[in-house]
Amino acid sequence: MAFPHILPAPAAQVWHLSQQLAQFERMSAPQQRSIQAQSLRALYAWAAEYSPFWRERLEAVHWTRDSDPWAVLAGLPSLTRADVQENFDALSCAKALEPDSCSVAHSTGSTGRPVAVQRHGPTYHLRYAAHSLRGTIWHQLDVSRPLLKFGVRLHDGTSPDWGGPEAWFAKTGPVVRRRSIARDISELYEPIKTLHPGYIVGMASTAQTLARYALENYGADLPRIAAVLTTGETVTDQMRRECQAAFGARVINRYSNVEVGWMAMQCTKHEHLHVMAANVIIEIVDEAGQPCAAGQPGRVLVTALHSQAMPLIRYDVGDVAEWGEPCDCGIELPVLRRIWGRQREFVRVPTGELRFFAVAAEEFLAIAPIRDIRFRYYTNPLLRCEVVCTAPLTAEQRAALTARVRQMLGFECPVEIEQRDAIDWGATDKRASFLVMEAPWTGGASS
Ligand SMILES: [Zn+2]
Repeated sequence: MAFPHILPAPAAQVWHLSQQLAQFERMSAPQQRSIQAQSLRALYAWAAEYSPFWRERLEAVHWTRDSDPWAVLAGLPSLTRADVQENFDALSCAKALEPDSCSVAHSTGSTGRPVAVQRHGPTYHLRYAAHSLRGTIWHQLDVSRPLLKFGVRLHDGTSPDWGGPEAWFAKTGPVVRRRSIARDISELYEPIKTLHPGYIVGMASTAQTLARYALENYGADLPRIAAVLTTGETVTDQMRRECQAAFGARVINRYSNVEVGWMAMQCTKHEHLHVMAANVIIEIVDEAGQPCAAGQPGRVLVTALHSQAMPLIRYDVGDVAEWGEPCDCGIELPVLRRIWGRQREFVRVPTGELRFFAVAAEEFLAIAPIRDIRFRYYTNPLLRCEVVCTAPLTAEQRAALTARVRQMLGFECPVEIEQRDAIDWGATDKRASFLVMEAPWTGGASS
């Protein structure tokens, strides 16, 4: 490398953004809030000018340029997935940006119709890369080591280096990409044997399945992997333990979506996450729409501070999370103690209580040699359980499964167990082991 070294423009921009984010991370909470307030003010003014949808919503809460941005935020209704699906044109401000600079991105939900949003390509990708780089720096990833990536939308392939942003600043190791669906676990495991990756990037369920496979088949010769980086699914303590046992790997949980990019990343010191507060404002609200206190799970509303192409303000991403106490790691960003997963993992039981249905695979493994399991709760009420098992389930095993499920639900729900050869999860980033369906079960094919 020549000295002095001239970085290509995007690399220099990302480095500069990363420096600004590093400063922001160390600011006090009130300083961060005041910077967010400026971004919010600018976003409202922009949205009111160019989006008919937002003009109407902002007028309804009597917004003016002098309004307190936090009071406006608290007064706006949440933006639902249906709002975005049905008002694409009225939400879009792409016409106000330079021609052909915006692209449409589609969410990958676990069920239902995807959400299409517009993003301003040039700025979105720079910000995205800068936040990715923060994660790499926070966790001091050794970028010279090989990286193994799994994803439902990836195509099998290899690259000589990690690519941007890491490869812009350092010599990085090779990358192997593998499509993670519709293939056998032994095939997915192959690159772990041949590549000796330092890191695995993928869904929590993929990493957990690989860890179990390693423990069962390679107990005497387990690979050493520095870390598993996850997105898109709930990370459980069990998943962390299994990755540790199989690979000696710590798990670094990250929270992002297609619509807004990075929302939070795991702390450098603890298992909780820090909100990427220069990119998003996260609110956690209860059923009445009131802010939740630390430790109280509630719906996640996300405001994407730089969503000029299609403003997303108080967007209900469908997740449930809870706040944590401030952190002692030196990063002053807000703490998400836990992301509980999808709202639809909560069941309204007959007593009126909202129960979280946590699928802990090891509990079911204790009942039968289960390979895969999926639960769907219907309004009948009926809990349907699809099971893939190495042997036909016995009557005792069925009874034990039913009893365990009822215990988790907290009432005597009718339970139907269907043993299958395989479960078709579809092409999704979020394998929803448990979902509450909004309709009754009427028989026929599972969905
Ligand atoms: Zn921390």
